[in-house]
Amino acid sequence: MPSRATRVPLLSNSPGTERFLTVYRFGKAGARPKAYLQAAIHANELPGVMALHYLLPMLEAADKAGQIQGEIIVVPTANPVGMSQHLYANHLGRYDFNLRENYNRNYLDIGDQVAAQVEGKLGKNEAKNVEIVRKAMVKAVESFAAPNEPQFLKKTLMAMSVDADYVLDLHCDAHAALHLFAGASHADAVADLSAQIGSQATTVGRPDAIPQVMSFSACNIAPWLKLAKAYPDAALPKTSFSVTIEYRGQADVSHALGKSDGTALFKFLQRRGVIGGDPGALPKPKCKITPAWGMDVAYAPRAGMLVYLKDRGVKVKAGETVCEIIDPLDPFARDCRLPIKATATGVLFSRRRDGQLTFPGQVVFRMACEKELPHRVGRPGTDD
Ligand SMILES: [Zn+2]
Repeated sequence: MPSRATRVPLLSNSPGTERFLTVYRFGKAGARPKAYLQAAIHANELPGVMALHYLLPMLEAADKAGQIQGEIIVVPTANPVGMSQHLYANHLGRYDFNLRENYNRNYLDIGDQVAAQVEGKLGKNEAKNVEIVRKAMVKAVESFAAPNEPQFLKKTLMAMSVDADYVLDLHCDAHAALHLFAGASHADAVADLSAQIGSQATTVGRPDAIPQVMSFSACNIAPWLKLAKAYPDAALPKTSFSVTIEYRGQADVSHALGKSDGTALFKFLQRRGVIGGDPGALPKPKCKITPAWGMDVAYAPRAGMLVYLKDRGVKVKAGETVCEIIDPLDPFARDCRLPIKATATGVLFSRRRDGQLTFPGQVVFRMACEKELPHRVGRPGTDD
């Protein structure tokens, strides 16, 4: 392990145990642009870890060659608590056992605190304003007295990411095509990233809607949106760049994918000036960028066994059956194979595995569509 790797201690949840984050830092502290990358905050999602397994040696070599122009922080596994969540030989890692909260929800909402701190300090110079705001953001995160293990973890991650120019949170889905969730600003960088990583569905949020769900990605964006509302006359960027990349499905871990995903991240960082050198021509995009509110999310209306008629990454037309829910008890019933259909035409980017037993209210697929869609009946209001 190179000396640049540091151990950042976390709050111990029981006597005689300790946990820590392993954090890699490249370039010069305080240099710009700053990029922050983490994987596996949902600890059972390892394809992003494999991408970082390949990216880290590339960054090490680039740093030794003096190519890092900004600062890069990489946390190869962002959730040591979830990493230990083996229950009856199944690795979980998505929810905290004690508080039952999703590790990618309930990050700090520091917008009001930052707005109060910068009152009277913002003017017409955007670069100066950004500097003031970023300092206030770090201070707001650091002043938070994290009362428990998951909040301490979230605070520790945020303290490293909140002032970054580029935040990339690496996840994966159950059985999915590579896809990307982004905010509405920084359209050029989002388009670059989408094409560079080969995203098959890239969705962007509403331009000025303050996120309702404070995911890790959202917590880096939300304070800027609040500031823009609080100080409409100040010269401020719309938001920072903070995205979630979903590296296909949980089983999609291989050397070939890790190498190509890690290389694509390296090239994206080159393209944004964080690393020097020529990233080459931008690959042709594999998808159009579509609105998040145009996502068709389908929920299981009853329990049963899932069988898919459409594979991940394919285009599906409105009205076509994506999957069926099979009633295992009565193959004679008229509706023993309940079809779940697409309500709009789009790309099926996320689904579950064939043969999985589903329950009422569970998300069974997601599609990226071009126009706004009403929420389907059956939306349980959970975070899946
Ligand atoms: Zn995840």
